[in-house]
Amino acid sequence: MPVPLLDVNAQNLPLEDELKSVFEKVLRSGRFILGEEVEAFERECAAELGVKHAISISSGTDALIIALMAFGIGAGDEVLCPSFTFFATAGSISRTGATPVFCDVNPVDFGIDLAAAKAKITPRTKAIIPVHLYGQAVDLDGVQALAKEHGLKVIEDIAQSFGASYKGVTCGAIGEVGCFSFFPSKNLGGFGDGGLVTTNDDSLAETLLRLRNHGMHPRYYHSLVGGNFRMDALQCALLRVKLRHIKEYAAGRARNAEYYSRRISELTGYSFILPVAAPDRGHVWNQFTLRVPGEGRRDALRAHLMEKGVGCEIYYPVPMHRQECFANLPTASLSDCPISDELSAEVISIPVYPEMSIEQLDEVIAALASFPPSN
Ligand SMILES: *Cc1c(COP(=O)(O)O)cnc(C)c1O
Repeated sequence: MPVPLLDVNAQNLPLEDELKSVFEKVLRSGRFILGEEVEAFERECAAELGVKHAISISSGTDALIIALMAFGIGAGDEVLCPSFTFFATAGSISRTGATPVFCDVNPVDFGIDLAAAKAKITPRTKAIIPVHLYGQAVDLDGVQALAKEHGLKVIEDIAQSFGASYKGVTCGAIGEVGCFSFFPSKNLGGFGDGGLVTTNDDSLAETLLRLRNHGMHPRYYHSLVGGNFRMDALQCALLRVKLRHIKEYAAGRARNAEYYSRRISELTGYSFILPVAAPDRGHVWNQFTLRVPGEGRRDALRAHLMEKGVGCEIYYPVPMHRQECFANLPTASLSDCPISDELSAEVISIPVYPEMSIEQLDEVIAALASFPPSN
């Protein structure tokens, strides 16, 4: 039986009746932009994440853009981010007119390498975007210390890590602002696009709210140039239903990750590097990502898993400092990311979604066990 990388229906269909009744409620309310459902969703997210302000946004990408805009970041400014991340982290910096400066990552938690980041700071550096990749927080104490020393804003990219924690504190506003995504494959997966920004700063929240709606306040008076960064009332209403289950989802993912780690490390002569959950971090396992060292070995494993009917994906095959659209950036933006290059050649993510059965997990493990050792 094939095992998909992700099965959204396994999570959504058990909630079908509830989702339909919520849809009907919004339909009959006739209120589709902002309003009660949006505010309720935001209150519930703030409570779940333990932050003062949670503001729903049209997507995770837009959450990053609006956070940068709120700090007035634009042309002439530089923003540090990891090279090994999803494109949106870097793309949103570029879209404000600022220059993304790509830093290498560490190979343990895949977080931005702080020594590399420090070396790339200039008088134009305004902010740093640490990315909590695959469901695990990066070294936020280190990020905060670096930011403080150099007067940088910290914009956390938490798109893959809703509910992750660092030293017992849920990620959301350890930095100045947290940016989340509700893309269907994320831990709180929506029914289309959606995102969230979080902060504990009242005046920043005010600015973010205003920017979300064309910088308008009061109606038809514009003190700032914002945009339409609103998330639909319908999407908020549907996600309220799933938000109530977020802890179960995280527990399911953690159970699967724990099972994989134990069973894969028992395989004799396996040649994978398992992901590591640091003891002071609450990992929410958006991805279970193996490293497969050795020339061409990762791609061989990918072909092998596909042949066995096991879904897998490469997050991500090309680091940002090698993307064509960034080829004309200053050399300082593009230099010295050897670990990012290595990871791009070695990583592979296997199914870890919470609804997987033991049989499915065993099938993935059997497929890994039958991967022929190095030629
Ligand atoms: C998914 C993702 C985003 C963008 O979120 P969208 O909702 O798809 O716009 C940003 N950063 C990272 C690391 C992501 O994984």
